[in-house]
Amino acid sequence: MDNPRGDKRNRQLGESFWPDLGNLLGAVTRAMGVTLRNLFRKPVTLQYPTVKRVFPDRFRGVLALTYDKETAEENCIGCRLCEYVCPPQVIKVEMLKAEKRNFAKTFTLELYACEFCELCVQVCPTDAIIMMKSFDLATSDRRELLLDKDRLHTIGLQFDPSWATGTGLRAMQTPPKAAPEGKSEVKAATGESSSATGESSSATGESSSG
Ligand code: SF4
Ligand code: SF4
Repeated sequence: MDNPRGDKRNRQLGESFWPDLGNLLGAVTRAMGVTLRNLFRKPVTLQYPTVKRVFPDRFRGVLALTYDKETAEENCIGCRLCEYVCPPQVIKVEMLKAEKRNFAKTFTLELYACEFCELCVQVCPTDAIIMMKSFDLATSDRRELLLDKDRLHTIGLQFDPSWATGTGLRAMQTPPKAAPEGKSEVKAATGESSSATGESSSATGESSSG
């Protein structure tokens, strides 16, 4: 028995076969071309953690506490400025008063809630808290990111420090000093005298034309 609808469908399939095959081969060739091009490129990925990436100087990584390089004493004087400035309030410091200087009796930092804003580094008067060129504390257990004073000091010895210290950041953001008053007065006077000269010459011009 004749089936006109089936015949029509077969005819349509036959007509689109070669264009479809052409499109498919074109797509496969383009995809293989991309694969071939990338085969000879230098990979951008590294075999972490066996190979470590070199971070730029301004990398803002995990926070740490520092020791004085000469005296080996803790730099933190327990002033609590970092605690006051921290937006999410993840730093808690307890001061220990001593005869010559103060210390941090306890210092805790909840790294899991840190915004990495660097404000604590910026306000620290003794460069005691800094950022390191590392994010290696990544973990699936939040409790490991509640850092106490000992852990923060260990991190400070473990990784390379980032460029920023409180002293460096404050110096960078201080506006340039104005020129001494005497010099600015001389400059102003010089400016006035030249304008005065301009006026006199124009006056001279007026008189000559007149
Ligand atoms: S980097 Fe910002 S959020 Fe993190 S501890 Fe310092 S001040 Fe707080
Ligand atoms: S880290 Fe710096 S700002 Fe924070 S308590 Fe210690 S000395 Fe003060």
